[in-house]
Amino acid sequence: MLSLTVLFLAIFLVQGIQCSTDSNKPSYNYTDTGGPLEWYSMDRKNNKACSQGKIQSPINLDPDTIRTLAPGELKINISDVDIKPPKLLSSSFKFPPGKGYLTDGNSTYELRQFHFHTPSEHHIKGEYYPAEVHFVFEANKGERKGVLGVLFDLVDPESPDTDSPDTDSPFQTIFNHIKRTRYSSRSYPVSFRELGDFVRASDVMTYTGSLTTPPCTEGVQWYIPHDAILSSVGDYTLLRKLLKFNA
Ligand SMILES: [Zn+2]
Repeated sequence: MLSLTVLFLAIFLVQGIQCSTDSNKPSYNYTDTGGPLEWYSMDRKNNKACSQGKIQSPINLDPDTIRTLAPGELKINISDVDIKPPKLLSSSFKFPPGKGYLTDGNSTYELRQFHFHTPSEHHIKGEYYPAEVHFVFEANKGERKGVLGVLFDLVDPESPDTDSPDTDSPFQTIFNHIKRTRYSSRSYPVSFRELGDFVRASDVMTYTGSLTTPPCTEGVQWYIPHDAILSSVGDYTLLRKLLKFNA
């Protein structure tokens, strides 16, 4: 079983992120007077969809009824690259141009950034998960967006079927990067090879929704693997400390 883990941690400190391509510190948040119910009133001109949208994300997913792509139908190709952490790790990790692509048969998107949420924003049959990572892709010069959302669950240390999350996690190198970036702002090489293998081997749920942060733009195509990646309790705890509540 895949285990994930560590990846995140570092990545995370996200305070209000980012299902957008803007890596500047956002003016909204999740817990104070700038929470989701206030997003529209904070900017009535640009955030109209946050209040009046018809296909807003996130949603509660039902794998039995939602449109699902068979393993391999969603093509993903993300090169190993050097990644520089965002300031204060409080925003998205920008991805260099021309190094990451997603193709669903109709559209090809280019990877712009990725970021984390704790807990998960999407639910599956009413259940939420400890964390969720969003890889934000764009096509047509940003006019169209596609987001790969990967859910994280905690590994059960008692389960004999569970591999060590530190040996084969698709996010291992990302987690290691996160740990380093707690103390340094320099770039480090990060490998996405195992993440690509994980996605290509998965059934992937897809639906048309929106950005989950202001301006809550609709028309975003979401891709969410059925299975969660597993994280160790220790890695998740670090991630949670860095990110706080941001879903
Ligand atoms: Zn997001």
